[in-house]
Amino acid sequence: MVDTHLKIKEIKEYAKENNVPIMMDDGIQFLTNFIIKHKIKNVLEIGTAIGYSAIMMALANPDVRVTTIERDHERYLEAVKNIKKLEVEDRITLIYQDALEVDIRDSYDLVFIDAAKGKDLAFFEKFSKNLEYNGFIITDNINFHGYVAMDEKEIKSKNLRSLVKKIKIYINYLKNNKEFHTDFYDVGDGVSVSTRTS
Ligand code: SAH
Ligand code: MG
Repeated sequence: MVDTHLKIKEIKEYAKENNVPIMMDDGIQFLTNFIIKHKIKNVLEIGTAIGYSAIMMALANPDVRVTTIERDHERYLEAVKNIKKLEVEDRITLIYQDALEVDIRDSYDLVFIDAAKGKDLAFFEKFSKNLEYNGFIITDNINFHGYVAMDEKEIKSKNLRSLVKKIKIYINYLKNNKEFHTDFYDVGDGVSVSTRTS
């Protein structure tokens, strides 16, 4: 629908104007194609921001349901608004809480990690317990704007350097994980897909 297109465009413009780090175009395309290809029905998203990726996942297939967690109040409120605007509020459940504190009992066939970059490992460990046996864990921003490939000495900011270090630890954790196999894709800002090995 033309209307849907326009509304999505408005959300993307809001993100740009307010520096909300939503998924890049080819990243979101990868994610929605993945959902269609693997017939994903239930998604748990860590990091809603203003609801853009949750809405795109819900629009990928009418069977998709998304539960998504956001700790920032302003963004959460914007997400509530956007989900109503796109009329997907019956298929998206928003949780306003810190993902590391929330207690989720349900199981999902996809866990999508896109929150605080230094906490990927903690999110992975916590939410792999909510993964259906044959489910997938997808993590966004594995390349972190190219910083992960850079020589650490070239990264001037100490905070940034420490964040990059944590992402590298996460990448190694995924590579050495015996329970999960992970493929890395150079789309968007870098995306990884993890599945159970046996
Ligand atoms: N998935 C969104 C973008 C998310 S940006 C999209 O592509 O449209 C990352 C978001 O994660 C931010 O809004 C930030 O507030 C949130 N976040 C970071 N750490 C979090 C945590 N521990 N719990 C919940 N949300 C968190
Ligand atoms: Mg992201």
